[in-house]
Amino acid sequence: MNATTRPDTPDVVTYDEQGRKSTRISTKRACNGCGALLGDLTDDEFTAGINGRPLPDVRQECPTCGPSAPPPECRPMKLLSGEVRCLEGDCPHGRINGDRECPATRIETVCAIHSTFTPGFEDAYEEATHAEPWPCQYNGAQSPADGAGDVDPRNPATPEQQGNDHARP
Ligand SMILES: [Zn+2]
Ligand SMILES: [Zn+2]
Ligand SMILES: [Zn+2]
Repeated sequence: MNATTRPDTPDVVTYDEQGRKSTRISTKRACNGCGALLGDLTDDEFTAGINGRPLPDVRQECPTCGPSAPPPECRPMKLLSGEVRCLEGDCPHGRINGDRECPATRIETVCAIHSTFTPGFEDAYEEATHAEPWPCQYNGAQSPADGAGDVDPRNPATPEQQGNDHARP
């Protein structure tokens, strides 16, 4: 079974009028379970990569990992939130000890997988068009037994979401 619909573009070698060779390489997405190349990197994975966002879990696309892969995991990420001019450092708010970050901005934790992003001004940063708060509501789709051990310790799930694997006396 190979459920992937991901295109897999071969590298294209071209020669210009001067006979100079150039190769256009399509960046490939590797399976995060076994490292096998699954096909072309999607646009979203590309921008995630250059902006330091966690890449989505693609094990279900992988012929090797797919049959036993759990549903894609939610991943927490930090987001600096505030007015655009504050985020760009172009605001009148005072800085403490030469801090670059405006005190009117704040760090939020969101789910990298279920938030959506769009390139900001001149692609210098990304803006979240939808910020899904962490802990992510979609995280509940995982079975507690699989999910609980993988929770980032800095962002522990609340006991209500932890499921029933902590039996109470
Ligand atoms: Zn794999
Ligand atoms: Zn999520
Ligand atoms: Zn500000």
